[in-house]
Parts: sequence; structure tokens; C-alpha cells
Amino acid sequence: MNREWLEKDFYKELGVSSSATADDIKKAYRKLARDLHPDKNPGDAKAEERFKAVSEAHAVLSDTEKRKEYDEARRLFASGAFGRGGFAPGGGYAPGGFNGEFNLGDIFGGAAGGGDGGLGDLLGGLFNRGGGRASTRPRRGSDVETETTLGFREAAQGVTVPLRMTSPSPCTTCHGSGAKPGTSPRVCPHCNGTGVISRNQGAFGFSEPCEDCRGTGSIIDDPCVDCHGTGIQNRTRTITVRVPPGVRDGQRIRLAGQGEAGLRGAPAGDLFVTVHVSNDKVFGRTGDDLTLVLPVSYSELVLGTTVSVPTLDGRVGVKVPAGTADGRTLRVRGRGVPKRDGTSGDLLVTVKVAVPQKLDDDATEALRNYADAEKAGGFDPRAGWAGA
Ligand SMILES: [Zn+2]
Ligand SMILES: [Zn+2]
Repeated sequence: MNREWLEKDFYKELGVSSSATADDIKKAYRKLARDLHPDKNPGDAKAEERFKAVSEAHAVLSDTEKRKEYDEARRLFASGAFGRGGFAPGGGYAPGGFNGEFNLGDIFGGAAGGGDGGLGDLLGGLFNRGGGRASTRPRRGSDVETETTLGFREAAQGVTVPLRMTSPSPCTTCHGSGAKPGTSPRVCPHCNGTGVISRNQGAFGFSEPCEDCRGTGSIIDDPCVDCHGTGIQNRTRTITVRVPPGVRDGQRIRLAGQGEAGLRGAPAGDLFVTVHVSNDKVFGRTGDDLTLVLPVSYSELVLGTTVSVPTLDGRVGVKVPAGTADGRTLRVRGRGVPKRDGTSGDLLVTVKVAVPQKLDDDATEALRNYADAEKAGGFDPRAGWAGA
């Protein structure tokens, strides 16, 4: 049903272009509504059909928000986005973790509107608003928010973590139908299973949720005793979440279909995990670059050396060239935080002189000799400094 609506061309229905202004739409609608009004065309089923179609088109296009969603839905529909796996409800994940090719854009709730529950959701948002048009579709389960704290290195490298959650799940006794095993819900005779009651008031028809079945379209005579007919049970479950490499502190990961169960077998909501990343003693992070401060001696900076430094993945030898200034940052390409495209950021090594607090006699004497030699050699650390 929703899909049908999506395939309708509301602009064509009103005879306006898709770039029509709100005023154009209002004018076109008024004229058509006058011409097609049932009072003016008694017994003309075709005119009545058109009148309804025009009213429907106007209801969506005259509402800025709805029109925006409709345009977006049609744009996506035209581009074939709905045909691909990424938009299938629950696509890209398997219970107990992701299957082989999970979609990063998807789980990071990417830029493209975060394609929530897919087609149904998009249209649900479009057509269920305001309660005027209740859907016959059972309501999708709620989204669930949770959080987890990862170690710095886990977050940078990616990790699989178990998340324990108590949340409503489909009742195992009735498999979410809400009806006692061996029985099944029957179609609501009051609304014929549509969940809505249409009423006519003057020339205008409107619908409201059916009271007998509370909008679900079905009636349960013999409720399941374990879930009292709701189809839902509270269950503690542990799900394994694969956190991809490179996740940042505060980032939210979306797991499609891992949220609350829907009422009576409706699709489950999504699970959103906010990730906190703890600090590391050695490493820091700037975007995808890994940073660290490397303690060195003065003589190492002057003479140059190669120092073994840790990375997320083993150690690497970093060459400190002779004459390196204190505080300089050396870049080791590709040894930073893994990126989504499979490459990695860089490792940024900042050298910092460690000054000895105590020297033995030999070292002190050697340093004094060095200081004299330095002076004799013409080195003045303050040459050109502060007007000297
Ligand atoms: Zn049950
Ligand atoms: Zn009903």
C-alpha cells in the first residue's frame, strides 16, 4: 500500500510541476477541488475518485515537511536505492553480529539520512503523521539506546564486544502473535482488518484508528498467557557488536533490527550504541592520526638516532635526524588509526628532551668540557634572540 503511494505522482495529480510554489499548488488544488467536488458531480464515480486523489496529493504537497519527505522518497525511489540491499529492513546484519559485508555507512548512521528502517519507515514518517491516516501495518518496535566504553586501542583497531541488554523481545510462546498457541488472531470485523474507520462529514472524509482493535486490524480472543496478548516479553539478551576500527569517542553506532521487538510480529526497532573511548597512557589521537610524545636526550637530538616506538600494531623504528629541534613532530606514514577505506592515518611522533636531574662525576665533567667546546665552536643559543 505504501509503495503504491510512493509510485503516485502527486504533482501530476494537481497538474503542477515539481518545482511549483506553495501558491501554485494551492491554486491548482482549489480549482480542481471545485470542479471535481462530489456535490457538483453526483453519482460520478470517476470524478469522486479524482477528487480523492487530488485531496490526497494536496494533503502531502501543501505541507512543507511532508512535501520534502515525499520529494526525497521519490528521488531515492527513482535512483533505485530501494532496490538495493542497503535499504532492506535489517539488511546487512545477522543475529549475533554482522555478517561478512556490513555496511559502514549504515552502521555509522552515515550522512545519507541514516536510512532508518528502510522503505517502511520513510513512508511511515510521510503518511502516518497527524494520525489522519493510520497505517494498517503493526507498529515497528522502538529504537533502543545503550552505551559502551572501549579502551583506546580497541576503539582504534576495532573490537567485538558483548552487550547485555534487557528489552522487550517477541514472545517465544506465541512467536509474537499475542494469541494463545493453537489459536490465531482474527480479522477485526469492525474495520475489516484495516485498523481504521472512515467517516464522512459533509463533503470530507477522514479516518481514525479503529477502537475495537486499537488500530491493529486484528482481534485476539484467546490471549497468550505469557505475554497477555501483547506478543512481547522482556528478555535479557547479550548481543555481540562488532565495532569497526577507528570509532571515535562519543560516536553512535546503529544496529538495524536490534532494538525493541515490534508489537505482534512487526519489525523490530534499531539499537543505537554510543561508544565512549577511554584515554591511553601512550597514544593520543587527532582524527585518524595517532600521536605520541617520544622522550629523547639532548645528545640524541644533536647526533641523531633511531628509536623503537610502539604503534597499534607492533613497533616501528623512527629515525630522528641529527640536528632535530626539541618539540619537532616526525611523521610515520600509514601507522596511525585504520580508516574506513582500508588505509590508515599516520603516526605523529613529537620529540621531547628529557633533562637528567642527576649526573655522575664523569658525565658532569664531560658535559662541562662539552659546554666549553660548544662556546669555542661559536654556538650561541640566544643569537638573534630578544634583540641580542
Ligand atoms: Zn505470547
Ligand atoms: Zn478494527
